[in-house]
Amino acid sequence: MRALVIGWDCAVPDLLFNRFLDDLPNFKRLLKNSTYAPMESCDPPITIPAWMVMATSVNPGRHGIYGFRHRKGNSYNDIWIADSTKFKKYPKVWDILAKYGKKSCIIGLPPSYPPLPLKGCMISCFITPDAEKQYTYPPELKKEIERLVGEYIFDVEFRTDEKDALVKNLWEMTERRHEVIKYLMENKEWDLFWFVEIGLDRVQHAFWRYFDKEHHLYEPNSPYKNVIRDYYKLLDKNLGELLKIVDEDTKIFIVSDHGAKRMKGAFCINEWLIKKRWLVLKEEPKNIISLDKANIDWSKTKAWGWGGYYARVFLNVKGREENGIISREEFEKVRKELMEELMNAKDDRGNKMANKVFTPEEIYPECRGNPPDIMVYFDDLYWRSAGTIGHGKVHLEKNDTGPDDAVHDKFGVFVMYPGNGKLDGVSIYDFAPTLLSQLGIKAPLHMEGKVIK
Ligand SMILES: [Zn+2]
Repeated sequence: MRALVIGWDCAVPDLLFNRFLDDLPNFKRLLKNSTYAPMESCDPPITIPAWMVMATSVNPGRHGIYGFRHRKGNSYNDIWIADSTKFKKYPKVWDILAKYGKKSCIIGLPPSYPPLPLKGCMISCFITPDAEKQYTYPPELKKEIERLVGEYIFDVEFRTDEKDALVKNLWEMTERRHEVIKYLMENKEWDLFWFVEIGLDRVQHAFWRYFDKEHHLYEPNSPYKNVIRDYYKLLDKNLGELLKIVDEDTKIFIVSDHGAKRMKGAFCINEWLIKKRWLVLKEEPKNIISLDKANIDWSKTKAWGWGGYYARVFLNVKGREENGIISREEFEKVRKELMEELMNAKDDRGNKMANKVFTPEEIYPECRGNPPDIMVYFDDLYWRSAGTIGHGKVHLEKNDTGPDDAVHDKFGVFVMYPGNGKLDGVSIYDFAPTLLSQLGIKAPLHMEGKVIK
């Protein structure tokens, strides 16, 4: 028995299982004899760490990864970026399979740059800086890829107004990766073949407003109205070709790390903190700037925040931050007060939002690394967080870091073929134990999920 895992980053349960299903003949045929369900992602439901949570069945707190960027120690400005080397503490499913002599072929699984040695082969993911870098394991594989498709494409610039070019780049990237995937599936030995196509995430972020009538910036009858559907059709065409390559002894999984939904706007966390006097500036910014460029009065500042799909908020604590002012004794009380205020933060029309405000300690049994003090999902993630200031207002119609129409939804997809019908829901933590079980291997005890039957 071997397994093919098809990762469609950001695939949406409702689109795959319902709305687009009739346009996806290969997927539809597969689904008929599959076990499938919406799959609840981790907190936060973000590409990094979600794919690694899927591959390890270990929560982000234990990994010490809370997103892409992290604060370096207790610094105000210094950051570090999560890459493959930050996920070494817990074995990925392919590390476990290797102990049983099984080989894996891993393509584009975030974060897999720099590519780390494994029993099998690997091509790194969208965080790879460029194709000049060493992006394969073993290193010789790179030449093979280049002979096949020329320059391998890791990602596209998707926060852009150049939509025609973006469509072209998306299709080009996906087709090249597909060629590589087919080639490796046919020419390498593998027990596990797991690839992730990041293009679906990009296409949904870039084109959601042309397709979702409920989007506040919906543009009816746009020439781009079918781009998302067409991209799903491209994935389906490619799926059909992959299904021809595998034999009956191959278990097939189709999974996503999270879903997507319309973005209602961007909530300027720092503008809001300034308004509420949690964050105090020495001078007003003259234009839109990131917070590290701002002249902050740390002697009066109690909290500041970061942008992203969710907000990370940090308190300015005496003895912890360089110019901290909240004493250790007051910390919990002050944090609770701020959390209550964040819970009550309103949308652009003054309406209550379905905010989720929590501390890392509440949701993770262990918080390694540099966790924020508070995590906030504005309106259940419908509003993304904007970290920049100088807007003169708290609510933005658009993202502050480039055009983006969609946010992440907590639910992605799980499909296991062959199987026997729809389940109500499964957890991203269940994936690794289930995959191992299908390959006849018992999940190690440190894994947090259970086997999906
Ligand atoms: Zn993702």
